[in-house]
Amino acid sequence: MIKIIEKIDELRKTLKEYRKNNKTIGFVPTMGYLHEGHASLIKRSSNENDITVVSIFVNPIQFGPNEDLDKYPRDLERDKKVAVENGANIIFHPKVSEMYPEKLYTFVNVENLDKELCGAKREGHFQGVATVVTKLFNIVNPDRAYFGKKDAQQLAIIKKMVKDLNFDIEIIGCEIVREEDGLAKSSRNSYLNQEEREAATILKKTLDKIREMIDNKETNVKKIIDMAVENIEKEPLAKIDYVEIVDLYTLEKVEEIKNDILVAMAVYIGKTRLIDNFDYKFN
Ligand code: AMP
Repeated sequence: MIKIIEKIDELRKTLKEYRKNNKTIGFVPTMGYLHEGHASLIKRSSNENDITVVSIFVNPIQFGPNEDLDKYPRDLERDKKVAVENGANIIFHPKVSEMYPEKLYTFVNVENLDKELCGAKREGHFQGVATVVTKLFNIVNPDRAYFGKKDAQQLAIIKKMVKDLNFDIEIIGCEIVREEDGLAKSSRNSYLNQEEREAATILKKTLDKIREMIDNKETNVKKIIDMAVENIEKEPLAKIDYVEIVDLYTLEKVEEIKNDILVAMAVYIGKTRLIDNFDYKFN
């Protein structure tokens, strides 16, 4: 039986018992509306740990004023099913008032890594993410925590934060799970109507073209980005937020492809902002 826990104290008490019995704890933080991407993280955690905790919390402090906090999709009953099917033992589902009972004076900033890509467009987003993940790490105190490469910048930021602040937690990055036509699974895909859903394949199609150019030894980033922009602009429902090639570790922009890189994009399809990426390593 899966336990649904809403209170921090109760979760701490429950996990203390497991820890006393030398059980390892895996943790999968999510905002809910679980799909196969989340499922792959939960499954991996339950394979690698005795107990898996999935948090479902739509974190208000990582949403900007004009973002989709209020309309973010929620369905706890379905989430419960996905969590159980993939081996989770506990869902932590706190209310906003439980996580933020009073005005927060303390925030976690992972500098530099939050400047490029989504950081440049979503001011304060990664501060909100790093702060809530710190709170959740302190509440759950897991042995391992699982994050998707779908949010590559988030993963890089969490890894650096864990190193800098000496969290004794192993961070595990998991591959992107996609629909059959290549679209990366996302809770936000539920916003797309049929026409938009078809248009949304432009992200992966363009990433594939970029990969092909790099495979064919193209190293000039401007040439690659120009091709990508032109390709995306052919899709009338798509509006580019950014397409960038950055160093895989520092996330700084590069002009020439020599070392390991991250190719990342954010594209509006209608009103829905979708992200996708791949990393390219040279050895
Ligand atoms: P979210 O609920 O969107 O905050 O995502 C929770 C976790 O699931 C994050 O670590 C995401 O990177 C991961 N995730 C979301 N979509 C995917 C996907 N398509 N494939 C793999 N992981 C994903």
